[in-house]
Order: sequence, then structure tokens, then C-alpha cells
Amino acid sequence: MLISDELKEKFEAAKRVCVLTGAGISAESGVPTFRGGGNVAVWKGMPFDQISSVRMVRENLAEVWEWFDYRRGFLKDCQPNAAHFALAEWQNKFDDFTLVTQNIDGLHAAAGSRDVIELHGNINRAYCTCCERRFDIRGAIPHTPENCDECFAPLRPDVVLFGEMLPIGAFEKAEKKARSCDLFFIVGTSALVYPAAGLAELAKYSGASLVEVNPEETPMSGFCDETIRGKAGEVLPLF
Ligand SMILES: [Zn+2]
Repeated sequence: MLISDELKEKFEAAKRVCVLTGAGISAESGVPTFRGGGNVAVWKGMPFDQISSVRMVRENLAEVWEWFDYRRGFLKDCQPNAAHFALAEWQNKFDDFTLVTQNIDGLHAAAGSRDVIELHGNINRAYCTCCERRFDIRGAIPHTPENCDECFAPLRPDVVLFGEMLPIGAFEKAEKKARSCDLFFIVGTSALVYPAAGLAELAKYSGASLVEVNPEETPMSGFCDETIRGKAGEVLPLF
């Protein structure tokens, strides 16, 4: 009903599928977005783009950690939803399946997705500010360790902050997959933020069909071949 016969046929025939997910899919798991809408999110009087900035890492790393540990506290009780699980199944359905996410909560991996391209990093990882060694800090709130066990420099969240570039390797891989896919889904994101928005455009100009799944109209809607108005957790399991 929600999904047209034409789209169902395309889905069944597709060999290479790419999915880009954003805050909407996590919101359905109760993850606060900490942004969006008319209200500017603040933490201790600081706008989120200030506390989550590369400048704050240099000037007050302890405060940055307090903010991220606070957010990780919320996430502790959030579980993957039906959309995450549906996408984890899709990876076994196609010759080539790529899941790209703007989310940092790790819920795709928790649902069983492998090799997720995390454009903005992962809140449950930290890396050394000196040697860039990675640490899994899942479950440790406040985070431990605080310092690198190799060079003893302080760790920082492995999250792309305001003022930072996306991880080059991850984005290039996503671009390559977007360019060669048959079907590209935009799920729970307005995809307005570049360069993520560029992925959808790249896919379309390279010949893919573009499908949007979002409860609301977005600036991308008119650009998509199909738009499905609904929650990801209700729509994706229908395929
Ligand atoms: Zn180190």
C-alpha cells in the first residue's frame, strides 16, 4: 500500500543498493537528536555546535567529555528498532549492499549490520589526541580509559565535530558505492547537510533510483523518484 508496485519490482531486481540513514531512524529508538527544530540545543548555556567543536577539544576537553558522556548515558537504554533490523537483513539480500549513516550511536551495528560507513564517527569510541589509536569505550560512563595506554595523551571522542572534515576514507567509499548503485534510499534524514546530500545527488546522476523514507516532506523530496511518507520502523520492514 505504502510501497508502489513499481518500487517493489525495482527492489526485487536491484543488485547494488545503498542506504543513507540519519537522525530520524535513531529518534524512533528514543535517541535525542540534540539539534534541529527552532530550539537551539544548549548544554550548560553553550550551543551544541560550540560544545561539540574541535575548538572545545583544544580548549576544554574535560567539558567536551562531560557532554559526550551525558549523551552516552541517554544511549545506554536505547535499542535498535524495526528499521535497523530490516536494514541488517538487507545486507544479505543484494549482491552489493552499503549502509552509510550520519548517526553516531552504533545502533546499526547493534542490530547486526556489518561494515557500516559511519560518516560522523561513533560515540562509543575514543581516540588518542596524539597517536590516534582507537579505544572502545562502550559501557564505560564516564568513559575509561581517559588516557592512551601507549603514549599517555588524553583521548577524545571518535566523533566528527563542528569544524572538522569527514573521515576521508569513509566518505570516498560511500561516494564510490553511491556512484555504482541501482537503488539509493534516504532514510530519516533531510540529507540537507553536505557532503551527505551530495551522495544522493551523485547516485541519481549516476543512474540510480532515489527513494526517500521520511514521515515529513524534506527539501530532497522533489528530487526523489519515490517518496514514502512514514516512519522508517514501519516502512522498511514492508519491503
Ligand atoms: Zn596515543
